[in-house]
Amino acid sequence: MEPGDHSNTKPHGTGVKIIWRDHADPADPAIYEEARTKRLFNAHKPEHYPIAIAFVKDAQEIVEVVNLANQLKCQVSVRAGGHSYAGWSVRDDAILIDMGEMSEGPSFDEDTSIVSIPPAITGTELVHYLIPKGRVCSVGHCHDVGLGGFLLGGGMGWNCNNWGWACEQVLAIDVVTADGQLLRADDQNHSDLFWAAKGAGPAFPGIVTRFHLSTRPTAKCMLSSGYVYPISNLENVLSWVPKFTSNPNGQIDVLTMASYPPGLDQLCVTVSITAYGDSEKLATEALEPVEDSHPNGTVAHWFSAPTSMEEQLEVTAPAFPNNHRYYVDNLWLKDNTDLSVLQPAFESLPTKKSLVLVQSMRPGSQGKLSDMALSMQSDYWLSMYAIWNDQDDDSRCQSAIHDVATKLEINSKGSYIGELDPRARKAKYWEDDHRERLIDIRQKWDPQIRICVCPGLEI
Ligand SMILES: Cc1cc2nc3c(=O)[nH]c(=O)nc-3n(C[C@H](O)[C@H](O)[C@H](O)COP(=O)(O)OP(=O)(O)OC[C@H]3O[C@@H](n4cnc5c(N)ncnc54)[C@H](O)[C@@H]3O)c2cc1C
Repeated sequence: MEPGDHSNTKPHGTGVKIIWRDHADPADPAIYEEARTKRLFNAHKPEHYPIAIAFVKDAQEIVEVVNLANQLKCQVSVRAGGHSYAGWSVRDDAILIDMGEMSEGPSFDEDTSIVSIPPAITGTELVHYLIPKGRVCSVGHCHDVGLGGFLLGGGMGWNCNNWGWACEQVLAIDVVTADGQLLRADDQNHSDLFWAAKGAGPAFPGIVTRFHLSTRPTAKCMLSSGYVYPISNLENVLSWVPKFTSNPNGQIDVLTMASYPPGLDQLCVTVSITAYGDSEKLATEALEPVEDSHPNGTVAHWFSAPTSMEEQLEVTAPAFPNNHRYYVDNLWLKDNTDLSVLQPAFESLPTKKSLVLVQSMRPGSQGKLSDMALSMQSDYWLSMYAIWNDQDDDSRCQSAIHDVATKLEINSKGSYIGELDPRARKAKYWEDDHRERLIDIRQKWDPQIRICVCPGLEI
């Protein structure tokens, strides 16, 4: 590939398909724009303009693009699943490496039960790939989050409070470094890079071409209970939830959500509980204390309904619609915070499509995290999603979430890097010693910052 060969859509040099900004086909200017915004989840597209978008087919092509960036002395940015709401992959004057057309799909080793995946695969795609093998991996609650950014950020997946962070399933990565080497990093080899791959998120100083993940057997039984209340019952609900999340009887994953549920034209608070067990008896026993203690006043309610991971992904999908504008922020609550402080967050959804979630991280939050870049967690995690259609509502919707997040900072110990925009609000994303180590690792592997760090992140 020759740097001077700025053809637009034609295969380029050795074969990497590159769309150049300044050499766009005058007959079809939409080609560059389509490449720039391809697969971006947020309909609110970033106003940033890469010099080129490279649609890579494999790891060797990523090496070529990184070498080209080194020749041109420009940065590279990465798009895996395209789900970053802040559009981190789209950076002015960088070469955007789009991984959506990589040719090698997932593969599964029957002897070790290790699955190897390309970064652009979504949670739903991975779950469906593993079903016939009787295995499962931890994937995001939102069905089409890409595994690339999700795993690098830490990955708060289904049953995270019991199974651990999704990045803890990563056994090895294949990675292209800023100087264009293709390496395998794991516990034994380039272990500092491997450590960073588990939680550095958009500060990871490399480009992962493939993740190698452990899998677990599909839960023998998954059951779901749900309690939907009018928002007027919020206080009761927020004082009830900690009573059963602090003393779980078996593996339960608890989400408390403010939303306008489909079919109910009113703001509600829903407590949704999924139990995982080796038998129906065990999973039901995990749900019984919740059923027995739930406050009166539900407008809808189900108990111990059989479900599966694929069904849960399908059921939650409409809550995160595509082709909508999003603004997202999140906070780790300080331990022992009374959940009633969250009332303003639950009561001020800017639109009927917006959502506020509280994920209970107990009992996992009370154990010690493994040694990895990811280092922040607490008993409760608040995440807020403004979702809307009309550009005229941008500022109102953004401010609604931003203002609540800012007011709640006093109750927070930090934020999860995967679900906010550091340009909009600064927070603590890693414990101090982990941040220092990450800075050293970045300095070693990418001293010239060839690989873009997300905007607004000071590291
Ligand atoms: C509606 C919604 C729901 C979400 N739900 C969850 C959830 O349940 N759990 C959770 O943990 N997170 C969740 N997230 C956050 C999500 O994990 C992050 O946005 C993540 O970055 C998305 O990954 P992606 O590959 O799709 O994104 P992309 O936009 O493709 O990537 C984002 C950035 O990650 C880095 N990156 C991605 N792939 C690579 C790679 N292969 N090599 C190097 N760097 C890479 C790059 O800096 C890139 O710019 C959610 C976000 C939204 C908007």
